[in-house]
Amino acid sequence: MTSFEYAPAPESAAIAKIAPHYDLFINGKFVPAKSETTFSTINPANESVLSQISLANQEDVDRAVASARSAYQKVWSKTSPAERGKYLFRIARILQERAREFAVVETLDNGKPIRESRDVDVPLAAAHFFYHAGWADKLDFAGLGNSPQPHGVVGQIIPWNFPLLMLAWKIAPALATGNTVVLKPAETTPLTALLFAEVCQQAGLPDGVVNIVTGDGSTGSYLVNHPDVNKIAFTGSTEVGKAIARAVAGTKKSVTLELGGKAANIVFDDAPIDETVEGIINGIFFNQGHVCCAGSRLLLQESIQDEFLEKLKRRMSLIRVGDPMDKNTDLGAINSAAQLSRITSLAHTGDEEGAQRWSPDCTLPENGFWYPPTIFMGVTQAHRIAREEIFGPVLSVLSFRTPQEAIEKANNTPYGLSAGVWTDKGSRILWASQKLRAGVIWANTFNKFDPASPFGGYKESGWGREGGRHGLSAYVKEGK
Ligand code: NAD
Repeated sequence: MTSFEYAPAPESAAIAKIAPHYDLFINGKFVPAKSETTFSTINPANESVLSQISLANQEDVDRAVASARSAYQKVWSKTSPAERGKYLFRIARILQERAREFAVVETLDNGKPIRESRDVDVPLAAAHFFYHAGWADKLDFAGLGNSPQPHGVVGQIIPWNFPLLMLAWKIAPALATGNTVVLKPAETTPLTALLFAEVCQQAGLPDGVVNIVTGDGSTGSYLVNHPDVNKIAFTGSTEVGKAIARAVAGTKKSVTLELGGKAANIVFDDAPIDETVEGIINGIFFNQGHVCCAGSRLLLQESIQDEFLEKLKRRMSLIRVGDPMDKNTDLGAINSAAQLSRITSLAHTGDEEGAQRWSPDCTLPENGFWYPPTIFMGVTQAHRIAREEIFGPVLSVLSFRTPQEAIEKANNTPYGLSAGVWTDKGSRILWASQKLRAGVIWANTFNKFDPASPFGGYKESGWGREGGRHGLSAYVKEGK
């Protein structure tokens, strides 16, 4: 026998009760949008329409902010920290109870493999609520100043790559610290946020503490510019992050920005080669490479380059691309036609600028949006694919001779979100991590997330941290 074929192992979609149309979630209820405008959300794996979503206009955002303000003044600011913690624990447990439903809806709306939404997105989202539930009544002892106080109403805007998880990163610390929120999910992935609105109802969360307004960049912009919002928390592209920074400059709004990245994954010649190949694969092909901290630049020490690339290609040939609902799928669909066209055109510049492209043989489905796992070899610092975020399953391979050269190349980027170091020597890990200008540095592993661990970037990767005690500080101001 020369090949081993997997039998299909599809997850059933029956558990997902997706409504044909969704209203906005304001003041604890689903209410029709004043805009009377909708847009479709589709399954990127086959382009079928999943639901019609309301597009919130200025008036709708005004209503959501007014609801969050009223809930803040009348209820949430008067709720004891221990009580706030109980709501968060309740939400965490409901997320666990409804985990399969959330995983299926996430995969249908986003295109990511069910294995990842089931084993990463949903459990980590619940973990964020559990973690922050524990902080709610201990803020006075968190080293955040004397009796830290909430900002009030927080506007939160999230991207499409980890829809539920980014919601959890935003809402859990905001509620734990006593703020109320208006959250806007991304236009291509609104469904798990709307399902989360049901969880808020199920948990008995007081009306108006969480409001969900669906829409596009215009909706986000109304939220950013709203005079009664005290803080903006944004995760998304550096371009929009810069626009938000400009919009809030000169106002009293506090702001945190989690933006793009172009992480270097550095492999020294003493690294255990097979384990490292696995880590590089995870670093760039996890979630189709739609990961802000993806290890999208592989820096290989020249002496091991040929052997390493041979093993990397062999491992890439085993990646299973296809139906995201199949439990054996490793690489799912690209989230949207727009993202596919961005990946395609940026990768094309790699061809034009003389890098050598390689992808394994793989048959891509006919409908939907797909891109094969791809590496570009012979990339230099001057190539666009070494400098710009591709946000797809495309790895740029560069080489280095000395450790110092590796650090210089790794830091030669406008971004500074994450980095990886692969070596047998602990001393080299410590040396490299002191010199790398990145918010998160993984050693002999990659893409590991924990609610207790702060996450965020330097330079154009953003302002502030999310997660851990550091992440709480973004949601409070100095007390009385
Ligand atoms: P995007 O910036 O286009 O959109 C993000 C969100 O902002 C969406 O909800 C969108 O509707 C909204 N938006 C768009 N224009 C707006 C405006 N003018 N004002 C207010 N809101 C606006 O980004 P994207 O393409 O959805 O996401 C991909 C980007 O997100 C990548 O660059 C990635 O690196 C980054 N990202 C960063 C992190 C992090 O933690 N640093 C995490 C995930 C994604």
